[in-house]
Amino acid sequence: MLGCSSSSSLFGLSYPLKDTFLLYKKVTEQYENPEILRIVRSLIPQGIVLRTTTTTTTKHNWNLVPLLRWFKNDFMEWTPKDPVCEMCVNRTDGQSKVIEGCSNNRSVAAAAAPIMQVKKIIIGNSWKMRKLELFICNSCKHEYAFPRYGEILKIAKTKTGRCSEWSMLFGAMLSSLGIKTRIVHDFLDHCWNEAMISYPEGEQWVHVDSTLDYPISLNHPYHYEENWAKEYEYVLAFTADTVEDVTQTYTLKWDSIQQRRLKKKKATDFSRLIHQYNNEDIFIVSRASSV
Ligand SMILES: [Zn+2]
Repeated sequence: MLGCSSSSSLFGLSYPLKDTFLLYKKVTEQYENPEILRIVRSLIPQGIVLRTTTTTTTKHNWNLVPLLRWFKNDFMEWTPKDPVCEMCVNRTDGQSKVIEGCSNNRSVAAAAAPIMQVKKIIIGNSWKMRKLELFICNSCKHEYAFPRYGEILKIAKTKTGRCSEWSMLFGAMLSSLGIKTRIVHDFLDHCWNEAMISYPEGEQWVHVDSTLDYPISLNHPYHYEENWAKEYEYVLAFTADTVEDVTQTYTLKWDSIQQRRLKKKKATDFSRLIHQYNNEDIFIVSRASSV
C-alpha cells in the first residue's frame, strides 16, 4: 500500500491540478451514497420534487426548471469574495436610526458598511475542507471565516458558497432525484453541472448551471465564452469513475483552444491525469491518504 508521501514522486504532477481531480472524484463518489442522497432529497420541497420528476413520460426527460429556480432563489446563498462586515452593518443600522431625519448625506454614509478584506487563506489537508478563507474588517477588526467544504452534507448545512459549493450540492440534488449528473470544471474560475436529458434524437449531457438565472442556467453552453470572455484550455466533466474532456461542448473557438494547448506544457499533465483517472487506481490510493 502506497503512502501519502509517495504520491508526488510517483506522478510528478503539480499538487493543485491533481488535487482538483481528486476533489471531484471524492465529491461525485458522494452522488452514489444512498444515505447522503436520502438526506439531500429531504431538503427539496415535495412540490419541487413532483414537478421535476412526474411531469414527463419519457425516461430522463426531466423538467429541471423548478429545481433550478428554487435552489438559486430560495435555498442557497452566495458567499461574496468581498463580504460586507456584519458587525459594522448592525452598528450602522443602529446609528442610522439615531440620525434618521438629520441629514440624508449622513444616513447614506452610515449605510455604507465596510467591505472585509482577505486576511489569510489556510490550505486544508484534505478534500473535505480544501481551504479556509479568513476575512477581516479594516474598520472594526471583526473576523469571518469561510470554510470551503467538499462534503455534500456540510455544504447542505451551511447553504452558502460560490460556484464550487453550488455545483457540488446541486449535483447531489439531481442525483437524489435519480437524475444522472456530473460536475464540469473549466480550470479557470468556474464550475457547473451537466445532467443526462432525453431529446427526440436521444439522450445527451446538457449544461446546467445552478448559479445562473433561468433560462441561461439550462443548455446555454456558449454563455461563458460569449459573455464572460472565457479563453479555455480544458473543460472537464467528472463522475466518480470517469473524467471526460468536454471542451468542445463549450466553445465555438476550438481552433484557438488547440493553439493555446500546444503552447503550454500543461497539456501533458492533463492528458496523463485524465488517463490515470479513467484507467488506473491512483485515486484510490490517494483516497486512503487524504482522509
Ligand atoms: Zn466591521
